[in-house]
Amino acid sequence: MPAKLLEGRSLADKIKEELKKEIEVLKKEGCPLLLAAVQVGEDFASRVYLKQQKKACQELGIDYQIKELPLQITQEELLSFIESLNQDKKITGIILQMPLPSHLNAHQIQMRLSPLKDVESIHPLNMGRLIYGDNKIFPPTAGAVVELLKSAGQNLKGKEIVIVGHSEIVGKPLSLLLLQSEFSSPTVTVCHIATQDLAFHIRRAEILIVAVGKPQLIKADSLKEGAIVIDVGINRVPVLDGKGREVLDERGRPKFQIVGDVEFEKAKEICSYITPVPGGVGPLTTALLLKNTVECAKLQKVS
Ligand code: NAP
Repeated sequence: MPAKLLEGRSLADKIKEELKKEIEVLKKEGCPLLLAAVQVGEDFASRVYLKQQKKACQELGIDYQIKELPLQITQEELLSFIESLNQDKKITGIILQMPLPSHLNAHQIQMRLSPLKDVESIHPLNMGRLIYGDNKIFPPTAGAVVELLKSAGQNLKGKEIVIVGHSEIVGKPLSLLLLQSEFSSPTVTVCHIATQDLAFHIRRAEILIVAVGKPQLIKADSLKEGAIVIDVGINRVPVLDGKGREVLDERGRPKFQIVGDVEFEKAKEICSYITPVPGGVGPLTTALLLKNTVECAKLQKVS
């Protein structure tokens, strides 16, 4: 039987509907709600994210501003700019668009963010809270994976969960989130580029979460029968015809599509649940970013 699809869109819509009500209340109380996105220099991918963020904020009635800064900005200048956003009472959330130019120290800048305005939950204080399990906000992508697992209605007690990818925004926080007692202690294995036998770990995964950014990295024949597969990867690849040739659009340019890290079509014949890409983790990540934005505004109201 083909796998059930774990789609993020309907869950995201539900979260957004609840947020609309909370935003209405905040606005009636006269609370500011403004998300500021800091963009250093030009970056094509970031442009796309900024557009998506703006649209998502507008949809819910959250004010949104892009703060464009020159590529040559120094570390000190950026730190003091972040400090000015921290001090600005009208701004209730801050996003630092990544990647930053290589002459800037991203960790030092993340540390300067006010933890109360840290909508991506990347400040060490918010990251550290994942260990104690007393977070008010969660890293959105890790949170999205957890919501999708919950929606599959599985008891995670003693389950073998394998995460592929150990980045600071996905793999690492997700491993900590899954170890919180709320999830009845699954066994969590985190794989990365230096993992010696990736296929060995994938074969024994009852739940597999992949966040790498390499199309087709996970071959369907290495999956355990009945596994739950959450594909976080987003890759832009050319569309190919049956003979492996690039398909062109009406203007003669190669057509592109978005795919994940898992060999989706074959994998869905083997696993019990799988996320589509696009339409799985992505929409939920955006919804949870908005949820954090509202949560941050509420935290500043009481602090
Ligand atoms: P990242 O910072 O580049 O991290 C990739 C991770 O994969 C690293 O831990 C890396 O290990 C590991 N890795 C690389 N090659 C590997 C291999 N052959 N085998 C095993 N592990 C390997 O990327 P990221 O920011 O976490 O994002 C990962 C993917 O998720 C990207 O496609 C990104 O676009 C997508 N993403 C999606 C969402 C969403 O909402 N859907 C949100 C965030 C990210 P080393 O560090 O040891 O090299």
